[in-house]
Amino acid sequence: MMRLAVKRPLRVLIVDRSAEDAKQLVRLLREGGYDPAFERVDTADSMATALEQSWELVIANSGIPNFGRLDALALLKERGLDLPFLIVSDIDNEEAVVTALKAGAHDYITKGNLERIALSVERELRAAQTRRERQVGAEHLQRHRDLQTALIDASLAITSTLDLKTVLNFLLEKVDIVLPNSATTVRLYNRETGALEPITCRNIDENEWRAANTSSNRNSRRKVNRPALHNGFPIRLDKAYSDLGSVDIFRKYGFVSYLEVPLLAKDEMLGVLGFYAHKGHQFSQEEVEFLSMLATQAAIAIQKSQLYEQTRKQKAELERANKVKTEFLSLMSHELRTPLTAIIGYTGVVRDGIFGQLSVEQEEALSRVLSRSNNLLEMIESILQATIFETEEVKVQIGTFSLSDFLSELRLLYRVPMDKDTTLIWDYPSQLPTIRADRTKLTHILRNLISNAIKFTDQGHVKVSVRHSPGTKKVTFRVTDTGIGIPSKALPSIFEMFYQVERPETRPYGGMGIGLYIVEKFTEILGGTVEVKSKPGKGSTFTVAIPDGI
Ligand code: ADP
Repeated sequence: MMRLAVKRPLRVLIVDRSAEDAKQLVRLLREGGYDPAFERVDTADSMATALEQSWELVIANSGIPNFGRLDALALLKERGLDLPFLIVSDIDNEEAVVTALKAGAHDYITKGNLERIALSVERELRAAQTRRERQVGAEHLQRHRDLQTALIDASLAITSTLDLKTVLNFLLEKVDIVLPNSATTVRLYNRETGALEPITCRNIDENEWRAANTSSNRNSRRKVNRPALHNGFPIRLDKAYSDLGSVDIFRKYGFVSYLEVPLLAKDEMLGVLGFYAHKGHQFSQEEVEFLSMLATQAAIAIQKSQLYEQTRKQKAELERANKVKTEFLSLMSHELRTPLTAIIGYTGVVRDGIFGQLSVEQEEALSRVLSRSNNLLEMIESILQATIFETEEVKVQIGTFSLSDFLSELRLLYRVPMDKDTTLIWDYPSQLPTIRADRTKLTHILRNLISNAIKFTDQGHVKVSVRHSPGTKKVTFRVTDTGIGIPSKALPSIFEMFYQVERPETRPYGGMGIGLYIVEKFTEILGGTVEVKSKPGKGSTFTVAIPDGI
């Protein structure tokens, strides 16, 4: 049986003036187990042209004027080609060998030793293969490192900002590391309309891209026909994507491969990243993974920035709504106050008999009208006061006045006997100094505290105590009652606007929850403090201390 030895194919470029010599080389290679496909060149130009094709090996013989073996080697290096380069020469001297090897030739074979060429070829092919593998390995490792660094950088940068534009800039910058010659587009879903809107892009003209998007959105026949990507997996299309939206513009730039990566954050689909590459580039698994990880980080940051933006808008809307409410309340209170003041004035005049004698019942009825109207006026004034805090800066009007006179006047407001079993006790020294304070605000503070004490006390007493301490230049007002008291868990809230303690009893006490809010605000403006102590069922004590002169 005949045994056929399988010869190894070999693409070899021979630099030689003599076709005969070249043939001899080829014959030796054949004898050494190779099946050479070869080309012989004998000028720099023809070698340059031949190098356009791919070769496994170059053998340079001598004899070409103006284009020596080392010139051929230099040309190879110039092209960045790392092919085994063997020199065949009839010069057998050590110096020539050293020079050739130093210049980068891989072997130097003298004509006398030509039969060992096949062995040398085999060795050099193996060495070149090892070099290539090492090179690929090193490049791979380096790229892996670059991607890891890019991901860490991106995660730090992307998640440390709330500004959408900055997030997207970082994102595109990092994409550049992996796909320097590609284009990237970012489209996000509009939360209100549900439409995918163009946000930003890289390496294509933004205006052109936006325009193309708008027209492809408008024209339903050219609607993007893409697979149901939204199971959250990237889509990779490595061939021309004739049915993708806004295709013309990408074709114009020569992009033919497409990778679409969803921007997913906590199961919410925020949008898509599109990557477009030129012919010949197929998105590798490594790229898909890197871009997917980048997209995940970007999605978290985008979601954060969108939530922040939403909160900011809501805050602005709330502030606006609050302002409208306050202005409305203020206007309404003003409008109510004027007619009410007239009602109170006329009722007083009629009740006092100016327009004729009244029966006891008539007088009593008008007194009730007056008392209720005064309550109403007090409420309206409270609203007005409270709205002032929200709309304008409250001014302090400091004056000098006698504390005794001030208290005598305050007492007049509570002259009428109370229609319940409660005594109002005034407790202050007969000699009190003049003080410097805002008289109107002080009146509001005390009226609110005393009204509350009376309102929430059915039996016992309400006591108003006043002390002036010249040493600390402080005036202390204390309103104590023996009323229903305040549960301790409600105490921290009673100074909030509109807060009223929920009571199990069905009896309504009236009021709007504004009085104590005003007390606290005014006290604060006067540079003072307010404290409360209370025991449910036993009573409450409110203490306001203000400086004499601010
Ligand atoms: P209101 O108009 O309801 O009196 P305030 O702001 O003056 O509003 O008071 C808030 C709440 O604090 C009241 O609804 C009441 O429950 C409680 N409160 C205030 N003062 C007293 C008091 N002297 N005794 C018992 N509860 C009081």
